[in-house]
Amino acid sequence: MPKKIVAGNWKMNNDLSETETLLKNLKKQVIPEDVTVMVAPSFTNLYAAFESVREHPIEVVAQNMHQSVNGAFTGEVSAPMLKSVGIQTVILGHSERRAYFNETNDLLAEKVNTALENELKVIFCIGEELNDRRNSDHFEVIQNQLENGLFHISEESWSHIIIAYEPVWAIGTGETASPKQAQEMHEYIRKTIAKHYSHAIANEVSILYGGSVKPANATEIFAKKDVDGGLIGGASLKAEDFMAIVNAFG
Ligand code: PGA
Repeated sequence: MPKKIVAGNWKMNNDLSETETLLKNLKKQVIPEDVTVMVAPSFTNLYAAFESVREHPIEVVAQNMHQSVNGAFTGEVSAPMLKSVGIQTVILGHSERRAYFNETNDLLAEKVNTALENELKVIFCIGEELNDRRNSDHFEVIQNQLENGLFHISEESWSHIIIAYEPVWAIGTGETASPKQAQEMHEYIRKTIAKHYSHAIANEVSILYGGSVKPANATEIFAKKDVDGGLIGGASLKAEDFMAIVNAFG
């Protein structure tokens, strides 16, 4: 059975004191035992966040990292640096990284390797743009992102992978994929993994949905068979909304 996971992607929001306040409010809430809850603060607040939840089941994860482990890459952050402040999981390939920072499938394949070599788990984001869906190319785009960014990894590495399906047209737009659209794509992703690897691997990997998930729509989306949780942007910035989404697993 895939693990149930709800991860909050804070993006470029929350300074140090806002990070501490939000975590303080999250820590007051009871987390269902069968749900793994993650939050992804900015790099500058990772260590403070890690310290703040040391005695708590919330996991602090990173939003990105560089493909090299060190060197002359001004302004970048490496996998060993993340490890050194307690981080065990990194989000890679978010559509904003792909769109605004030119992250290609080839670059992401490198980042995935570096993360795995450094024993970091990866939340690997994939998703089609609106035009892809309008042209009915969405399955092909997803297949391409999987094949070129992820399918070079070994079978053993899959225990370190979480997939996040985030249709770009649904991110931060208020427009959500319908539960049916989400299920259809999640099933396709699982089938594609089964075809390239095995049913055993496909049936174990958590596939999260992301894109305008909120308390009002989370229950319906999470109820779908192949949806194992969510990657939450906007709604993860308020403790009560985020926890309502976590509890939507019911
Ligand atoms: P959103 O963002 O929930 O604000 O749409 C999701 C994401 O980008 O991970």
